This record gives sequence, C-alpha cells and structure tokens, in this order.
Amino acid sequence: MTVRMRHTKGHSANRRSHHGLKSPRLSDCKNCGSAHLRHRMCDTCGKYKDKQVVDMMAKVEKKKERKKTKAKAMGKEMEKVEKTDKKKKEK
Ligand SMILES: [Zn+2]
Repeated sequence: MTVRMRHTKGHSANRRSHHGLKSPRLSDCKNCGSAHLRHRMCDTCGKYKDKQVVDMMAKVEKKKERKKTKAKAMGKEMEKVEKTDKKKKEK
C-alpha cells in the first residue's frame, strides 16, 4: 500500500486531538482516606465497600519472608537486608 496524499499539519493535529491521556478516576477510601481506583479495592488497607478483601498485614509479612529467602539465596547477610528495610521506613 502506498501513501496517496500528504496530510496537512492541521489534519494530523485534528485527528490527534483525541489522543490525550485521561486522568484515572480516583476516590477516597472510607476506611483509611487514601486515594484508590473506583470499583477497586483500596491498596493501603485492602478493603472494598467496608469488606476486608485482602489481608494486607499478611501480604507484608509474605513480602518480608520472600525477601529473606531471596537474600539467603544470593548469599547476603541478613543484617544488610534489615538495614535497608529500616532506611525505607524512615523515608
Ligand atoms: Zn483504605
């Protein structure tokens, strides 16, 4: 297929006028007040419509556990991993 005719700048600009990104629809969590996507669970407390959907504390624990096993596999000392965790919390 060949390009049959050159489009003007205005023509291209008109077409692209609909290409802009729309900002995500956010609402405040009833439980903790942080912003979350509509019709989705809150990422900070794991609740949706006043129901506990995901146990976030268990998730955090699981993440820590995974980090430890990964550090062991990499041959690092555990102290280093804990130090970096503390630094992150301070931020
Ligand atoms: Zn929340």
